[in-house]
Amino acid sequence: MIVIQESELYRKVAGACRLDTAEAFRLQSRIHRLRWFGRSDIWVKRDDELSFGVSGTKLRKHASIIPALKQQGIEEVVVIGGANSNNVLSAAQTLKENNIKITPFLLGPPSQKLGNAKLLSLFIDDSEIHWISRSQWANCERLVNHYVEKRKAGGIKIFVLPEGAHHPLALPGSLSILVDILRNERESGVRFDHIIIDAGTGMVAQSLLAGAAVLGRKTIFHVVILAGSFEDFQAGLSRVVQYTEEFLDVSPCPLPDYHLYNPATAKSFGSTNKTIFGEIQRIAREDGILTDPVYSSKLFLTARQTIRNKTLDGNILLIHSGGGLALTGFMDHPMFSV
Ligand SMILES: *Cc1c(COP(=O)(O)O)cnc(C)c1O
Repeated sequence: MIVIQESELYRKVAGACRLDTAEAFRLQSRIHRLRWFGRSDIWVKRDDELSFGVSGTKLRKHASIIPALKQQGIEEVVVIGGANSNNVLSAAQTLKENNIKITPFLLGPPSQKLGNAKLLSLFIDDSEIHWISRSQWANCERLVNHYVEKRKAGGIKIFVLPEGAHHPLALPGSLSILVDILRNERESGVRFDHIIIDAGTGMVAQSLLAGAAVLGRKTIFHVVILAGSFEDFQAGLSRVVQYTEEFLDVSPCPLPDYHLYNPATAKSFGSTNKTIFGEIQRIAREDGILTDPVYSSKLFLTARQTIRNKTLDGNILLIHSGGGLALTGFMDHPMFSV
């Protein structure tokens, strides 16, 4: 059941992301083949190439968040996350570029600043970070609200960006990945039967599912859940379906088939092991691609296992969501012995 035309979806996404302006984020990434298992029908979408500093899927989310914040005249944004969060490091760039003050509320401080946490220090002085200890983390929302009320009383226009930017304002940008996959399909002449994507908060994967639903796409989606539980993903999906209905002004439509997976190894978020580092090296040597230990290497590993175990046939697309800067934190890791 098609409830909206592709051109209409494009028009709305382009409008929210101000794609017709000079300062718009570039939301087009290419696809190319992987030569896995002697096949020529497995492809990767290089969202990692959208930006060096901002991880790919975060660039898409911020592409609709930033214009909305500017339109509302927001002066300060509270960003919540872990000390190594790709979203926080990305927001430090996209907000500062637009002269919006960033106030991070972060879980920590870490015993040692490496990787993203260290890169974040380039943008933000430690004294500007509100560190929240693990024992206080459950109270984070209350602490943020208290701070926000104080700032509002001082006349500051302030906005709170939740962990991983799972927010309605991120929806149009998140939907841009679907619009761009449709362009990739037209240009390559390949129609994808399976799409394999990773999920943190799940915002981008959920938007893909909701977008496929309104377009009546029959693709089968495979989502590797890297943070949180399957139930968290389902709850997020219901919210994103609702955001989509509101944004596109359409009524509910059936979701495409989708399967949820735990990562093939190192199941808890951010954890790594020898298999992960081995896979990072394999991907580099055989596929010529840099991947990070938190997201993309786990996606690739799980995708290979799934394609083999389930003997998935037809055209397959993996989404490389970026995040490569996190690798900088692991260069001296004892298991990263290449
Ligand atoms: C944040 C992030 C994800 C997950 O995106 P969600 O929309 O939160 O699921 C995947 N890969 C990379 C590199 C990320 O930075």
